[in-house]
Amino acid sequence: MQYYDKNIIQKLPQLVDYFKSGIDDENKNISHCILFWGADIQTQCELALEIARLLNCKESGSDNCECLNCRWIREQTHPAVKIYTRLDYKEASENISDEEGSSGGKKNINVAQARGIISELAVTSDYHRVYIFCDRDEDGNLLPLNKINFPEVTSNALLKTFEEPPQNTTFIFLTNDKNDVISTVVSRAQSFFVPSKNSSAQNYELVENLLNNYWNIERNNVLDFENNLLNLVENNGAVEIFEQMENYMFMLMKNNFENKILFQRLLKDLEHVETAKRQATLTPPMNDTTICENLAFKMILG
Ligand SMILES: [Zn+2]
Repeated sequence: MQYYDKNIIQKLPQLVDYFKSGIDDENKNISHCILFWGADIQTQCELALEIARLLNCKESGSDNCECLNCRWIREQTHPAVKIYTRLDYKEASENISDEEGSSGGKKNINVAQARGIISELAVTSDYHRVYIFCDRDEDGNLLPLNKINFPEVTSNALLKTFEEPPQNTTFIFLTNDKNDVISTVVSRAQSFFVPSKNSSAQNYELVENLLNNYWNIERNNVLDFENNLLNLVENNGAVEIFEQMENYMFMLMKNNFENKILFQRLLKDLEHVETAKRQATLTPPMNDTTICENLAFKMILG
């Protein structure tokens, strides 16, 4: 299966720029444990492979670079960049662990795989190693991590490695929801909401006034913010407004990826907006007043 797609740069410019500026920084200022969450695992994987390319490129990381590392990553043959799932591991037949049972189908990334990673990392590498953890079906379609395919016993075996990996090693986890991954892993990772569609060419005109410099709104004006938000939601529909808010915030992230403090704030608030959007699409949905109150308080009071 082909997972690399160079269009990721146009699809998610704000996140690609953010990681590129961190990687170009002389201190390689990006977390070695990264968690992506959202509905679209394929897009998350494209972003993870682009990060792997930027980490390994021997030239400037330009999108048409033809260095050996870039070519390998596009062809998915790079020796140190691995998409790691429960199915991508062959173990010695005498060593079948209990977790799989005898019924065939391997259901998780097991402890033997974890041990395999640990011994692999004990050997130094000339490359920047990137392990992308997710799941896939037999046909190669990517699926999110959850507590069944990436169980606690496996993450515990790797916890120390996630915390203090050898030099030039990055772990990336792909999932739908942060709650689907063991909390000890989430707490060690920097997490990013990854939207499922092209976020660079979408409108936000309905929320522009509401969100203009919202991070400077005084705490005691939170109720005004809440009322304005609720008005927009009641007149235009909750999902429309929350999606426009996401578009606007992604636009700000794209333009402010060098302002680390604002970028982090937007990243956090984006998670709150995504939560609100989910609450509005529950059956039955939560009521708009409650959703807007929660969201306003999280965004303005932090
Ligand atoms: Zn290159």
